[in-house]
Amino acid sequence: MADSRVAIVTGAARGIGAATAKRLAEDGFAVAVIDLDEKQCADTVSAIESGGGKALAVGCDVSDAAQVQAAVDRIAAELGGPTVLVNNAGVIRDNMLFKMSEDDWDMVMNVHLRGAFLMSRAVQKHMVEAKWGRIVNLSSTSALGNRGQANYSTAKAGLQGLTKTLAIELGKFGVTANAIAPGFIATDMTKATAERVGMDFEDFTKAAASQIPVARVGQPEDIANTVSFFADDRSGFVSGQVIYVAGGPKA
Ligand code: NAP
Repeated sequence: MADSRVAIVTGAARGIGAATAKRLAEDGFAVAVIDLDEKQCADTVSAIESGGGKALAVGCDVSDAAQVQAAVDRIAAELGGPTVLVNNAGVIRDNMLFKMSEDDWDMVMNVHLRGAFLMSRAVQKHMVEAKWGRIVNLSSTSALGNRGQANYSTAKAGLQGLTKTLAIELGKFGVTANAIAPGFIATDMTKATAERVGMDFEDFTKAAASQIPVARVGQPEDIANTVSFFADDRSGFVSGQVIYVAGGPKA
């Protein structure tokens, strides 16, 4: 693989995004670490640099079209044209339908769906020019339906549709698009869910693990490893797929 390939990971200050950025750097990519606040990206960037990799911290709200274009232009100027895009940035605003506000609905749609659309639209130009590219969208087992997540499950199901259409439109340019649908992964996001339901995180994790065939919850690296597969040259005939990474066949 040419050593100049550039990857973008959104929401990479922590959690799955941070692990993915580090893994792609180990795979030889220069990595643009995007998160809302550029300063929050410092830990991920220094971890990559201390491992001998190349990284750039970029502050960007992925739901804002002007910020997305500016971020992609800056990445192209400072690192080179990006040809791997991991749409990972995410938020939850869980509530039962009868209590869900319009703001909670819009926020979740904007970050997950509009964000992935804007990022993909801005980056595809570089992929088409390079005649090679990889788009990986973070869906979720919640796409199959999840109590208290009408907004999130809709967005995560929507990302599967976006993935399949990007695969169809961009395939002839050497670009694949795939989605990863994680189950329970131990991050700040699942910590927030434990808090919302009033459970200690360790108890929450144990309860989740007892329902998972491999008898443990997932770690961010489990997802990072799957992204690494999709970003690799050797997965070039795999496109438009959704892979559930959930420790078992069911959500
Ligand atoms: P996380 O720890 O909450 O990290 C998400 C990151 O996204 C945060 O750094 C957050 O920044 C950033 N972000 C939020 N809104 C953004 C925006 N508008 N623009 C740019 N960055 C933004 O979440 P995670 O658990 O690692 O999840 C990563 C992805 O996997 C998400 O798409 C999530 O839905 C999906 N997923 C997670 C699980 C799980 O069990 N954890 C399961 C299935 C799917 P701030 O810190 O500034 O808010």
